[in-house]
Amino acid sequence: SNLHGLDNLVANTAYLKAQNINRYKLREHWIFLSLPKPKMSSDLQASVGRNYESLCEQQPIGRKLFQQFLLASNSQYMVAIEFLQELSDWSFAENEAREKAKQRILTKFFLPDSSSFLSYLTGEEAKICKALSNKFDEVMLDELRKATRDFLSGKPFLEYQESPFFHRFLQWKEYEKQKINDKYFYEFRTLGKGGFGEVCAVQVKHTGQMYACKKLDKRCLKKKGCERLALLEKRILEKVNSLFIVNLAYAYDNKTHLCLVMDLMNGGDLNFHIYELGVRGMCMERVVYYAAQITTGILHLHTLDIVYRDMKPENVLLDAKGQCRLSDLGLAIELPKNQKVCQKAGTTGYMAPEILRKESYRTSVDWWSLGCTIYEMVAARLPFKDFREKVQNDEVTRRTLEDDCKFEHKNFDDSSRDLIRCFLKKKAVFRLGCRNSNDDPRDHVFFKSINFRCLEAGLVDPPWVPKSNVVYAKDTDRLMDTSAVEDIKFEQRDEEFFKLFSTGAVSIQWQKEMINSGLFDHLNHKENNYNSNKESST
Ligand code: ADP
Ligand code: MG
Ligand code: MG
Repeated sequence: SNLHGLDNLVANTAYLKAQNINRYKLREHWIFLSLPKPKMSSDLQASVGRNYESLCEQQPIGRKLFQQFLLASNSQYMVAIEFLQELSDWSFAENEAREKAKQRILTKFFLPDSSSFLSYLTGEEAKICKALSNKFDEVMLDELRKATRDFLSGKPFLEYQESPFFHRFLQWKEYEKQKINDKYFYEFRTLGKGGFGEVCAVQVKHTGQMYACKKLDKRCLKKKGCERLALLEKRILEKVNSLFIVNLAYAYDNKTHLCLVMDLMNGGDLNFHIYELGVRGMCMERVVYYAAQITTGILHLHTLDIVYRDMKPENVLLDAKGQCRLSDLGLAIELPKNQKVCQKAGTTGYMAPEILRKESYRTSVDWWSLGCTIYEMVAARLPFKDFREKVQNDEVTRRTLEDDCKFEHKNFDDSSRDLIRCFLKKKAVFRLGCRNSNDDPRDHVFFKSINFRCLEAGLVDPPWVPKSNVVYAKDTDRLMDTSAVEDIKFEQRDEEFFKLFSTGAVSIQWQKEMINSGLFDHLNHKENNYNSNKESST
């Protein structure tokens, strides 16, 4: 109907406009913000912990403040952090720039009379340092990187924890713990519909950061007995931190819903891109690029002992830049090393033979499903099920267990055929990714054009970029919630359960948001001015 069309247009316009926020305008709101008063509470310090990797490397604000501390301390600490920075620059540089970066490192850090000589190194490492000034050796360089890190995690790390920089870090941690509710966000149009409610676009009021908010209806969850599953999905989501998986930024609840606030993926899912854009399938350049990002995402999950179990194009979403991420971790399961499960889980057409045979399995099932996914991206059909073919699940199971996969579509080339054959080995022990403990699909020739180090740093340009004025989602009226849920009373233990879910901001994502929006610098500045005013007036 026309009215629906108009509603949709209005919703789209507001949504697209929000994405081009006026940063200048945003800053007007910052006048009212400030960091919580410094509080050296032992509770807070205990919750922050004393882990070097977490405090100084993984948490973006912790990392920044530790670096600021090093630069402000003494020349030795400064040299150490500069060395790490230049090593990182060098590792991402290519061709001429790489050679230049290498020469810089040589002359700056390894010549004994240079003012930036790595004088904190002793014993064996000092010898390596001398040797390197004559002959550049990448393996030895890695030794020095490790030695530098060891050095920083010792005395400098202890001194940092006594410094004003760490004090400031605790203020940010206090701020991070703020209670989150609906008022924290502006809400925009619905983007999709899930089993327990809708997913809509939201924007954090004071940073302008856009996210997707997956709302789970509390009554629905309780009625279907799926509360535990929601908590499981949340706990898995908050563990992951990858450029190729939808990351969680906030978890909170209101009267009616549990809300998961995640990376906004506004470029549509891969299913849409395979089937809905005129030409079916996609060009090999895109297949290679997406497959490389998906592979990296799956490997990240597997190193955390998480099996995804729902690998399929529909669950791979594109962002505004055209990079993809895995989403919907509702079927994912955490399985400690050596532990297996045999529960049937997944989607027809993508399930591995070991699942269909009701055998126990671990990570192998994700590589099978990735094989199916890559096949589908190329051929716009599944290996054992044609597009829109009306066929019983039993028959798909039979074909999966017994038939050979055929490659009739003209777009397959030698390397894609070989890669898919390797992923679609019926026996898991022969499958790519599962043949031994360091079997790595990234080494396959199919990926020869991809520099995975650069890919993981987000430095490889996507082959296709979504148009910025198009909304890659179904019209809002097709996503309307029509299901009525009867009234359900919640008990004490329900409320306690909701509390377990509503933990607020997720450290790494929230800290990134603070830095990217400029709020980190702004509030630090304000705090510094406030402190120096206080000093000068006393
Ligand atoms: P469910 O587990 O209930 O199936 P999903 O996580 O798959 O829910 O989300 C439902 C739909 O919402 C998806 O199919 C997709 O269209 C949309 N969606 C989910 N996550 C995002 C996101 N991060 N960004 C944009 N849209 C999303
Ligand atoms: Mg889903
Ligand atoms: Mg799900």
